[in-house]
Amino acid sequence: MDNQLLRNIPKVDELLRTLEQNGCCADAPLQTVTEAVRAALEELRAALKDGSLQELPDQDALCARIAALVRQARLPSLRGVINATGVVLHTNLGRACLSDRAVAAVEDAARSYSTLEYDVINGCRGTRYSHVETLLTRLTGAESALVVNNNAAAVLLILSAMAQGGEVVVSRGELVEIGGSFRIPEIMESCGCRLHEVGATNKTHLHDYESGVNENTRALLKVHTSNYKIMGFTEAVELDALVALGREKGLPVIQDLGSGLLLDLRPVGIQGEPTVRESVSAGVDVVSFSGDKLLGGPQAGVIVGKKCYIDLLKKHPLHRAMRVDKMTLSALEVTLRSYLEGTAFDEIPTLRMLAAQALTLKERAERLQAMLLESGIASAVIPEQDQVGGGAAPTQLLPTYAVALRPKKGSVDGLERAMRLRERPIIGRIARDAYLLDVRTLREDELAAVKQALEESGLV
Ligand SMILES: *Cc1c(COP(=O)(O)O)cnc(C)c1O
Repeated sequence: MDNQLLRNIPKVDELLRTLEQNGCCADAPLQTVTEAVRAALEELRAALKDGSLQELPDQDALCARIAALVRQARLPSLRGVINATGVVLHTNLGRACLSDRAVAAVEDAARSYSTLEYDVINGCRGTRYSHVETLLTRLTGAESALVVNNNAAAVLLILSAMAQGGEVVVSRGELVEIGGSFRIPEIMESCGCRLHEVGATNKTHLHDYESGVNENTRALLKVHTSNYKIMGFTEAVELDALVALGREKGLPVIQDLGSGLLLDLRPVGIQGEPTVRESVSAGVDVVSFSGDKLLGGPQAGVIVGKKCYIDLLKKHPLHRAMRVDKMTLSALEVTLRSYLEGTAFDEIPTLRMLAAQALTLKERAERLQAMLLESGIASAVIPEQDQVGGGAAPTQLLPTYAVALRPKKGSVDGLERAMRLRERPIIGRIARDAYLLDVRTLREDELAAVKQALEESGLV
């Protein structure tokens, strides 16, 4: 270790003066710049000590490093990424992307005062939920509707309002856990109701539900097993039969649908996700589902059903605590309008990406490959398979294409990391010893950014 080198490291104050003289980082707060200077000097000291650096960098190089640290510190922690994983409803990456229309509506509601709780026709106070209620009832055939912060909150509200102090009958095969902290048994407990499990893991019959009903029973609950499938010898009770049992016993039937489709996805090859309308027409009293799973809207919990029950939910104190904000409502309203107007598949990114056919994806992958080749970056286009994500259609694999890269320098992990650590992170996946960019979730306007990132990495 060269002590002389260490002694020649510039002082914080000196560096700050140099930066100021060069007009470097002039628009950043002094505090941030000072912290960046300290961090850069600390890096320098460490590099000199461990021998990875033998001489002091020149002033320009040091200033550039500080500027990069300042830029990094000022980046929003929550920011956009380029999703090249192919998972359309990637929970870690924010689930559904909003349509352009919904984004414009959110921007307007966010920037300006709005009609949130104002009735412009009559010039008096309006209600926050009026913007989406009619749209939801028209789309689902339900009598009434309500929106809360997310589907977990919806289930909590429904059980608290309709079953507190009593028992709820659920099939053993439907005791779902979603994302680690949402578990049907625990939700029940926190709502002050008792879970009455019936049937076996693989089979539950109508007579199981029937014998589970007693004088304390408040409701029959059906939960869509959204993120798993029980295969082999299985049996579940059809909605119609459960509804008939509910009527006979004078008990409401509640359904947690998970994703909650507003239109049938079977024509685009996605099986096993029920539509909300099917549940409503089967006579289910209260149905809840997410706004940002297959629906493709903002995070929200939508509840539709019989007016008498929805009214009960609206009056419950928890409802106020789960109130959605104006940005969520505006995004949801406009997303629902796309469904009503028949333009959902064109406008809603979630549906568009899920419906993308293999041939379209192959062409997109080949386009990216050709763009990369222009910069001398070699890659392969390979067939792959995608999961839907968001706990929807868990056994379904969608055929897709990916651009596969092997780094010339360093490891595949190193390439993955370099792409992830960018200002606009690019999230790909590693498989078969290669770095894969799955094009299902890449927008056409993101291809150039991906190319630039790979060029700048200097690794491919
Ligand atoms: C996803 C899901 C939930 C939770 O919905 P959020 O909108 O994420 O709160 C609850 N139940 C089921 C069956 C689900 O699939």
